[in-house]
Amino acid sequence: MKRAFITGVTGQDGAYLSQLLLDKGYEVWGLVRRSSMADVNDGRLRWLGIADRVKMVDGNLLDISGLIRTIREVKPDEIYNLAAQSFVRSSWQQPILTSNVTGLAVVNMLEAIRLEAPRARFYQASSSEMYGLVQEPVQSEKTPFYPRSPYGVAKLFGHWMTVNYRESFGLHASSGILFNHESPLRGIEFVTRKVTHGVASIKLGLTKEIRLGNIDAQRDWGHSKDYARAMWLMMQQEKPDDYVIATGRTTTVRAMCEVAFAHVGLKAADHIVIDPELFRPAEVDILLGDASKARATLGWEPKISMEAMIREMVDADMERLATKRGRA
Ligand code: NDP
Ligand code: GDP
Repeated sequence: MKRAFITGVTGQDGAYLSQLLLDKGYEVWGLVRRSSMADVNDGRLRWLGIADRVKMVDGNLLDISGLIRTIREVKPDEIYNLAAQSFVRSSWQQPILTSNVTGLAVVNMLEAIRLEAPRARFYQASSSEMYGLVQEPVQSEKTPFYPRSPYGVAKLFGHWMTVNYRESFGLHASSGILFNHESPLRGIEFVTRKVTHGVASIKLGLTKEIRLGNIDAQRDWGHSKDYARAMWLMMQQEKPDDYVIATGRTTTVRAMCEVAFAHVGLKAADHIVIDPELFRPAEVDILLGDASKARATLGWEPKISMEAMIREMVDADMERLATKRGRA
């Protein structure tokens, strides 16, 4: 039985990755940071019905001694570093914390692995936000980076450290440059989930409008479930490497809203209010990924369309609001 260790196991991707690995017969361990609300931080794992099958270890990405001890005790075959301060907008509010957790702490993981599990395979959650002010119309592994937020800068540091530890110490360290991916388990602060939750609330008569910022921004949106499969595939390769994971299709926030509203028979234009406060200090206007390397080498391709995903998210939010099921 293979053993996996996931940081960020309580997050969106941590939940879907845990589900995938459990289905494949893995023993799954997850790093959980202590909270005063310990009964709710496994909400996403509970939503998927797998909370009691994931072995939780207390810890924090900032605490290297804890990471060293945990990796020594767990002895994982595969390590997925998904933990991060992952919300771009908050990264201007908390640039130091974001740099520490999303950037510097990647080295905590790499050092702990180098010391305790040099033969383990390591996955780093890199991001299309590293492309930021895009230098090519379609972004691949060869496209130069130009991050536009403290989050993007921190991710770029973690990305290059992963590459460097692979080249310097021969670690089996791979970096997945994942474009935006969503699901019913997406945090409510991200635009897709904010919209699907808002649409469900409007449909149920709980509110009338959704306030948004730049709805002309374009994203290459995929489904977290498809992207978790790509992470696992990277870890099954003999040779560690970096891969872009994307759908190859980009959509405006405005068009994504239209899909969500249309699903419940409403018009987006009747309910969206543009709020200048929600514009960002620097914007990533458009992202569009080229995942042909992943397709050729990993045999990966996305299965769930943006439209199907948004409809699934609206349905899940309707169910949550109607039944008060889960908090995720
Ligand atoms: P989430 O925000 O849903 O999850 C982040 C996870 O990190 C949570 O489990 C959170 O724990 C944990 N975490 C935060 N800070 C710490 C810390 N100091 N120590 C330990 N754990 C911590 O993100 P996603 O699941 O969406 O994304 C997973 C990873 O992929 C992230 O690194 C993200 O930046 C990256 N990524 C995501 C993309 C996307 O579109 N979703 C695109 C590209 C990259 P808690 O539950 O306690 O808050
Ligand atoms: P990001 O790509 O990681 O920053 O993911 P988000 O879902 O947070 O944002 C995607 C895009 O939607 C960005 O270009 C935002 O500026 C834009 N956007 C417009 N209005 C909003 C809003 O109210 N909330 C969020 N989160 N994003 C918004």
